[in-house]
Amino acid sequence: MRCPRCHEGTMAPLEKPDSYEPPYSVNSTSHFAYEPEWTTLQLISTLKCSKLSCGQLSVFHAAGSLEWNANERNEQYYEAVFRITAVHPSPRIIQLPSSLPEPIEGPLLAAFETFWNNKQLCANATRQAVEALLDFHGAPRLSAKSKRLPLATRIDALIKTNPNYGELFDLFRPILNAGSHGEEIKTDTLLDVLEALELHLDAVFESKIDRLGELQTLLRNPIGESDG
Ligand SMILES: [Zn+2]
Repeated sequence: MRCPRCHEGTMAPLEKPDSYEPPYSVNSTSHFAYEPEWTTLQLISTLKCSKLSCGQLSVFHAAGSLEWNANERNEQYYEAVFRITAVHPSPRIIQLPSSLPEPIEGPLLAAFETFWNNKQLCANATRQAVEALLDFHGAPRLSAKSKRLPLATRIDALIKTNPNYGELFDLFRPILNAGSHGEEIKTDTLLDVLEALELHLDAVFESKIDRLGELQTLLRNPIGESDG
């Protein structure tokens, strides 16, 4: 995990985290119908950025359970399986350009925080970032009667003015809609959308910086004097 502050160091546990089983889980073993699957395990750790001049701390929480497994010799056993439920401050799931406007960056930072324990909130926050990107690309937000336009209508408008961008956003639509309709979110698809967004943001915002640099060079050293 990259550091959420300096984006250069790596976040590593300060000490090896121990798995903890709370008393309510331990006590459940005395129930007559106890099943190992009832077991609840928890893992808490403090992560620290490896870059000495940064030293950012994050807290990390994971929830665990016992799952039935078998090895290659077909010996069966219970295995503790953990799922990350929170990392705060969260590392960035994708890299963001330093010049990213706040209305796009803010929802993406919220998407990173919620990614660990609520994929629907993460998809909703990503949708807000896409709506802000649509603003940036000039897609109208309101209808002629000043009503909020649906996401699909806004993307259709962008397809007309910028087919490359519009068609990319159109591919994001099913998962962004699933977020707001409470449908199941596939983690792999959500990560694919975020990765595609990373490449898009890089192309839009980093190349603008490059172009600005080019323009500054041109303006410093004009090729021909104007005749005005
Ligand atoms: Zn750091």
